[in-house]
Amino acid sequence: MYKIISGKEISLAVKERVAAQVSEMKKDGIEPCLAVILVGDDPASRVYVNNKKKACEFCGIRSLEYLLPADASQEELNSLVEKLNDDKSVNGILCQLPLPKHLNEKEVLNLIKPEKDVDAFHPENVGHIMIGDYSFLPCTPAGIMEMLKYENISLDGKNCVIIGRSNIVGKPMAMLMLKENATVTVCHSHTKNLKEIVSQADVIVAAVGRAKFVTADMVKDGAIIIDVGINRNDDGKLCGDVDFEACKEKASYITPVPGGVGPMTIATLMQNTITAAKIQKG
Ligand code: NDP
Repeated sequence: MYKIISGKEISLAVKERVAAQVSEMKKDGIEPCLAVILVGDDPASRVYVNNKKKACEFCGIRSLEYLLPADASQEELNSLVEKLNDDKSVNGILCQLPLPKHLNEKEVLNLIKPEKDVDAFHPENVGHIMIGDYSFLPCTPAGIMEMLKYENISLDGKNCVIIGRSNIVGKPMAMLMLKENATVTVCHSHTKNLKEIVSQADVIVAAVGRAKFVTADMVKDGAIIIDVGINRNDDGKLCGDVDFEACKEKASYITPVPGGVGPMTIATLMQNTITAAKIQKG
């Protein structure tokens, strides 16, 4: 019998915790503030930015939105980041990815001050994660760890298989799982015998970006399945990387899409924003 890990429910608990801390901070004259930069009019990015704004409202965090046209220059974007870096009332800066192709993502991410880097994408923060000594955790992997904690799932000694090695999800996920004493395998598009490797996993994290990539024949009985993917199926409906209906029957725990990892990513962003405010106020 499987249990659904509800990101909706757990993210609400995290946001309520953040909201309580924000109201305490406000008593001390601190109003956490998150600035979000969106370049262009990609509809999916627009939805993500709106969801972040709603979460800020829920938590009592001030949110600022900067919309740049799709043809904005690198200089325009960089100077906006520099302005926000210097603005003492702004605690967190987030540049919504992906950026239009003519813009250099790496350059922008490296420009955000590490102490305002609430996505934890700056090399300095990535380095801290690598050595297990950090202020900010990347939102998606940290959200997943929070879900596991909420369900009292220990990773100690577990065989965790992550499919995907992006800087945003796969690699930091591996670091966080290692820190919790899991044995971690990271798979990617060059991995041989993927099915065999995944079928030995106690915990599967799917971050590929392909609908129904993980099928029931790849899942060991009792496995814990974390689905990070956000895709559209043939009917245009939101779905993850896991064939949910078939895989759930073999799983002990499984996250749904929507309502799984996605809301946790946003809740962690809220947590990171108040952490940033606390660091900056000493
Ligand atoms: P990337 O495209 O950066 O990475 C995808 C990874 O999947 C790569 O490492 C790639 O390997 C690997 N991959 C692709 N095809 C295969 C294959 N056939 N076999 C094994 N591995 C394969 O994506 P992201 O990590 O940014 O995102 C992954 C998914 O998660 C997307 O659907 C994205 O929308 C979603 N996402 C969801 C979030 C949430 O909050 N729920 C947050 C962030 C992302 P290689 O490196 O070799 O190319």
